[in-house]
Amino acid sequence: MDRAPRLPRRRFLQVSGTALGLTTASACASSPRSSGADVRAATGVGAAIDRTYSPTRFDPWIELDRTAWAHNVREAARLAGGRPILAVVKNNAYGLGDRAVGPLLASMSEVGGLAAVRVEEALAMRAEGVTKPIVVMAEGSEDEIEEMARHDVLPSVWLDDAPGRLRSVSGRLGRPVPVQLFIDTGMNREGMPYTRARRWIEELVQSEAVDVNGTYTMFTHDLDFDREQHARFEELLGWARERNLPLGTLHAAPTFELFHLPEAHYDMVRPGNALFGNPPGGQEASDLADLRPVFSLKTRVVRVERLEPGDSAGFNRTFMPDRATWVALLPIGRTDGYPSEANGTCEVLINGRLYPVAGGVNSAHTILDIGPEKTVEVGDVATLIGPDHPAVLPHTVAERTDLGFLRIIQSMNPRLPRRVV
Ligand SMILES: *Cc1c(COP(=O)(O)O)cnc(C)c1O
Repeated sequence: MDRAPRLPRRRFLQVSGTALGLTTASACASSPRSSGADVRAATGVGAAIDRTYSPTRFDPWIELDRTAWAHNVREAARLAGGRPILAVVKNNAYGLGDRAVGPLLASMSEVGGLAAVRVEEALAMRAEGVTKPIVVMAEGSEDEIEEMARHDVLPSVWLDDAPGRLRSVSGRLGRPVPVQLFIDTGMNREGMPYTRARRWIEELVQSEAVDVNGTYTMFTHDLDFDREQHARFEELLGWARERNLPLGTLHAAPTFELFHLPEAHYDMVRPGNALFGNPPGGQEASDLADLRPVFSLKTRVVRVERLEPGDSAGFNRTFMPDRATWVALLPIGRTDGYPSEANGTCEVLINGRLYPVAGGVNSAHTILDIGPEKTVEVGDVATLIGPDHPAVLPHTVAERTDLGFLRIIQSMNPRLPRRVV
């Protein structure tokens, strides 16, 4: 048996940086700015909780590839004929982390602003130093609207009583409240229904308490009905133009309509998925733009052991090889965002080779079958999801686990360190 001498953990921690060609932990910031620092300094405990990437740890992290994001942003801008992009980074940037993704996207010249759905997302990105406009695509309470206004964040309104609430907030602020009007043209999710929007718009535009910064709608992604929605929006806009009611910047197109409904590109487009490397389905869409994976999910091998025939690995003896083989343990599991459906279906890339997930994906652990040769060492970097091989592409993992791209990325644990590379 060719058991390699095992380094005691302390020693590994000391040598791993050099062995892996990395320098000190301080060289690897998790975000473009070393922000969050004020929060950590203020609390005195944050540094221990809000962990940044470190080459001396085994634990998983998410890598964000600046070049790939920039590429997708350029592709989206090209599809939009050079119009600015209101980059949607809602739901914690679809799981990838708004505090890292927000500043990254905002640093690109094609991006005119960011859109979130929760107040705390917008405030977190402001705290990370984002200075471009941020729209919250949700109705807020008076307190929330005031908080947004004080942080230069644009709330959306769609409820009938919005004029009254904005008057009250404006009174507290001593100035008009900048807002975005969200019009429902038939999706019947958010928005003021277009059928009774006219008097409401008139009141808001003419109110001293309100500064209408923009107006938008959302599509259903049913192309025929999209066209009907577009016509409804157009009719409303025409009516406002005739009455000289300024509606600010107009926007409507998320990813699907960015690709398929150019007449709805208006003053700016509003994609999320496209920027995250997830185009609409179909050949036509893939012919229109070439989008790249923007992230990797990585960790380091934390144990390598040999199994003899008759040995097993994992709960309920999940992996029972009929031959001698090596198994590697990865300190990553379901709670980190790697799906349990990956067991028996997915592979993990280590040093350019693929190894099947064989001994189960548990809450915090995943066991790989390495095969008869010990080709993996403790401390090696394992890529569970990433652009480096077709077998670990986000869309491959989504397909093999039957979960879908969004389910995969939306499951990423917010606590995983984000590292921009
Ligand atoms: C999510 C969302 C978007 C972005 O949609 P994608 O399909 O990710 O491009 C745009 N606008 C609104 C209102 C949304 O809720």
